[in-house]
Amino acid sequence: MAANPCLFCRIASGEIPATVIFRGEGVTAFRDIAPQAPTHVLIIPDQHISGAAEVTGVHDEMVGRLVRVAAEIARQEGIAESGYRLIVNQGRDAGQSVPHLHVHLLGGAQLRVPLG
Ligand code: AMP
Repeated sequence: MAANPCLFCRIASGEIPATVIFRGEGVTAFRDIAPQAPTHVLIIPDQHISGAAEVTGVHDEMVGRLVRVAAEIARQEGIAESGYRLIVNQGRDAGQSVPHLHVHLLGGAQLRVPLG
């Protein structure tokens, strides 16, 4: 069988190494390879979903879980009180570079605004 070409599927399966900080409940969280803030973690579903545009009602529970796991990791990282940003990039104009749904968790410093 041909190798799964999706980078984040391969990180979720453990085929490609990453600094994984959480695995469970169909979710994997790992540190971004090019951090944009002191804490920069990506939270992904293990199941392949190419992005927010592909989310339907069957994913409601999974999408909620991604946000809840992100909030739990923020507490573990000690940034729950100081605050953090969750970002989902969809498509070209948003600069989505990996076509597998992922939530960025950014924090640990004052984050820049505006975003657009
Ligand atoms: P996006 O631009 O929203 O698609 O975000 C993709 C993110 O994945 C970027 O912040 C990249 O730095 C990050 N990234 C790409 N390859 C890896 C990798 N092998 N391990 C961890 N993070 C990665």
